[in-house]
Parts: sequence; structure tokens; C-alpha cells
Amino acid sequence: MPAPLLHVTTSPALPQAADAVVIGGGIVGVCTAYYLARRGVKVALVEKGRIGAEQSSRNWGWCRQQNRDARELLMATASLALWEAMAGQIGQDVGFRRCGLHYLSNDEAELAGWARWRDFARGEGVVTHMLSAAEAAERGRATGKAWKGGVFSPTDGIADPERAAPVIALGTLALGGSVHQMCAARGLELEGGRVAAVVTEAGVIRTRTVVMAGGAWASSFCRQLGIRFPQASIRSSILAVGPGADLPDALHTSQVSTTRRGDGGYTLAISGKARVDVTAQQMRFATSFLPMFFKRRKSLAPGGLQGLRSGHETLRRWRLDASTPMERMRILDPRPDHGQIAETLRRARALFPALADVPVTAAWAGYIDSTPDGVPAIGETNIPGFILAAGFSGHGFGIGPGAGHLIADLVTGTAPILDPRPYHPSRFDQSSWGKVAEF
Ligand SMILES: Cc1cc2nc3c(=O)[nH]c(=O)nc-3n(C[C@H](O)[C@H](O)[C@H](O)COP(=O)(O)OP(=O)(O)OC[C@H]3O[C@@H](n4cnc5c(N)ncnc54)[C@H](O)[C@@H]3O)c2cc1C
Repeated sequence: MPAPLLHVTTSPALPQAADAVVIGGGIVGVCTAYYLARRGVKVALVEKGRIGAEQSSRNWGWCRQQNRDARELLMATASLALWEAMAGQIGQDVGFRRCGLHYLSNDEAELAGWARWRDFARGEGVVTHMLSAAEAAERGRATGKAWKGGVFSPTDGIADPERAAPVIALGTLALGGSVHQMCAARGLELEGGRVAAVVTEAGVIRTRTVVMAGGAWASSFCRQLGIRFPQASIRSSILAVGPGADLPDALHTSQVSTTRRGDGGYTLAISGKARVDVTAQQMRFATSFLPMFFKRRKSLAPGGLQGLRSGHETLRRWRLDASTPMERMRILDPRPDHGQIAETLRRARALFPALADVPVTAAWAGYIDSTPDGVPAIGETNIPGFILAAGFSGHGFGIGPGAGHLIADLVTGTAPILDPRPYHPSRFDQSSWGKVAEF
């Protein structure tokens, strides 16, 4: 069963020209298009499948500062304020609430790590509260268990993955931008070495600025242009249950994590657990990803061959006048790991007695695209006018608004909302040993 998603109607005609073209209608692409359209930039957003249908509707919906790496914390904080403003600006609900996030644990080392992060975050102006055993038991009373302690991050929140990307795309349309679904970008035309046009399956759009926000497909697209972007995806499997239990809005434990959904049901997942499906691209970038895979080795397990068939990490070169792998795989919808789905449900029901009779409503998987250091790649490539914005490494939903705002700043040459330098893709020319995101 795929992740549920609100539908967006496509604009009637592809424009012949635009000030900027955004490739990819996930949260990063829609936020970029939205913040460009708000500045009066004529923007066209092209999406090979449906708005939000890949990672951006398949996630938990957490918008967190808690446990963020120092390089992403400012973007997370900026994003929370942007999320908060969005519903009022667009006039439709993106499902965002600053409900705070709960983390509970019986592991002293884990609690000590959270306390270290609390001390670091305090210096950055972010408040988070360590919970005593009594406070943790009170906040985690739905579990009926004792806890050694925990964390509550009151300024964090959740948004609704079913609605967010589609509603922001609708906001872009209302501001005069255009949105084109079932419209894969096949490549670029260059003039004098800089971007001159985007070639899509439906025609050519002349433009001097292109943002590649294609999620797990970004590296294979870059490869057509001679750009090396080390990127790898892992497959994460999660499920949803219907309403009927009364759990905290967002709760993490090492056993299972739960998030209240827009319909009153819950998303259930095991944090960090994922499978690595072999692909040609993973072989190519294996050395770059050694530090990442080494650091996360306890969470990752070998997968299967479905990544080879889905085409997102192909090393093939394609032509601009013929169908490409993107048109053959409109929506990357990998098969979930049924063993992990069953284990997640078992753990959730063991932890929360109220879930015992609540039925499963959906189960799905998503490919999470990552960079070698677990921090996104945002910045202009060596092709003037071609900006890369991908590799959000499992954090892109929450920080999508901040990333989109920053990219719009880079495109329009306005003062950036935050320092873009930590995100520039040129850092992948060096090894990532010792630089993999801590949290
Ligand atoms: C199970 C799971 C749980 C997660 N939980 C969280 C969470 O709680 N909080 C959080 O912050 N993040 C979470 N994430 C990560 C988050 O979902 C992603 O980082 C984020 O959605 C990435 O957004 P994106 O726009 O870069 O990519 P995507 O949402 O994948 O969008 C990319 C889009 O580009 C399109 N595309 C690609 N190539 C082309 C092309 N050539 N032409 C046209 N269109 C193209 C694709 O069809 C796709 O729709 C989770 C992810 C998963 C899978």
C-alpha cells in the first residue's frame, strides 16, 4: 500500500520560457518554487510523477531541531518559523504544529548523549528539557512503563506528509508559478557553458536558472552533465494505523517511534533501521560512503536487487530525444520490508497496549537519499545557472522550508537566510572520514 497523498492539478501548458525551472516536486522543490514565486520570479516546477509522491509523503513528518548536527541546526530553526508562517500565507493547512517531540530511554549512554546535545543547543539558543524518571513516566504514561529519563523539545513539531508538498505546490500556483506533473526533465541545453534551457519530455523551457531537487534521482541526472555527485539511497519501511489510541503526538524510543497523523491515526517506525539495496551507483561511490556506512553499520542491513530495477541510481547515459529511466519509473515506490513492518507493529503493540486492536491502514517504503557526510548538498555546480539541492539524508522534510528559502535567496542574489557554505557540494571532493553527521 503506498503512502496516502493529496492530489494537485497540473498547469494547462508548459511555458516556453521561465526565469527559473525547478526539477522535482518533493518538499525541497516545492518550497524552492514557492519562495521564488513569492518574490515575483516566473517559476516552472517540473515533476516526473506526482507532487510529493516520493520521499516527501513517505516520512514521519518530524520537523526537529532536537539532536540535529551543528551544520543543520540553524536551518532546522529557520524552517520551524517558516512552517509556522506557511498555513497563514497559503490559506491552507500543511498540518504543522509545534507539539514538541518526546524521547524516552532506559539507556544511560543514550541519555548522556542527549544531555550533551542539550548543552550544545543551549549555546545556539535552542531550548530542550531533559526529563527525570518521574517526568518521563508521566509523559510516556501511554506505555505504562518506567523510564530512566528522556528529553522534551518544546519548540519542535510535526507537519503532515500527506498534505505539505501538495499544499505548498498549490501556494506556488496561486502566486503565478506553474506546476507540471508527469513531466520528466531529461537534461539541459547549455550556451557558452551556462544553462540555457531545460529539455523535458513535454518540450523545452528556456531559462538561465535550474534547480535540481530530484531527491534520489539527482546524481544520475548530474552524471549526464559530467557532474560528480556522490549520493546513495537506503530503503526504509514504515506503517500507519488508524485512530483509536491516545499516544503523544511524537515519541521516540529505541524500540519504536510514533507520530500522530492528520486523520488521528499514527505512523509507526523503527528509528534508523533500513536496508541497502545494491545499485551500480552505490558501487561507484562505495569509497565515498565508507565512513557513513561504517558509522551507521548497526542500523543498516543488506537489501535486495529492486534498486537495480528501479533505475534511480543507474549509471546509464540517456538521450534527450527518447524516453529516460525517469519516465519508466514515475513514482519510486519500493516494496517494504515485510519482516520489519511486522516487527515494528509487534514492538508498538508491546509498548502501547492501546494499539492492540487498532488496525493497520497502510505500509510502505521509501528510498532515503544521502550524501557521504549526511548533510544536504545545496549550491551552484560548475555549470553556471545549475544549482544542486539534494541528498537531504533523512532530514529533508523538516528542513525543506529553510532549504527552499535559502535556494530562492541564492537564485535571486538576496542576502541568504543562513550561511550557505556548509552545504556546498564542492566539499565532496574531500573524504568524509570524521565528518559524518553526529545525530
Ligand atoms: C521512511 C522515511 C521517514 C522519514 N522521516 C523524516 C522525518 O520525520 N523528518 C524529516 O525531516 N525527514 C524525514 N525523511 C526524509 C525526507 O522525507 C526527505 O529528506 C525529503 O522528503 C527529501 O525531499 P526532496 O524534495 O529532496 O526529495 P523527494 O521528496 O524524493 O522528491 C524528489 C522528486 O523529484 C522528482 N524527480 C526526480 N528526478 C526528476 C526529473 N529528472 N524530472 C522531474 N522530476 C524528477 C521525483 O519524482 C520526486 O517526486 C524520511 C524519509 C523516509 C523515506
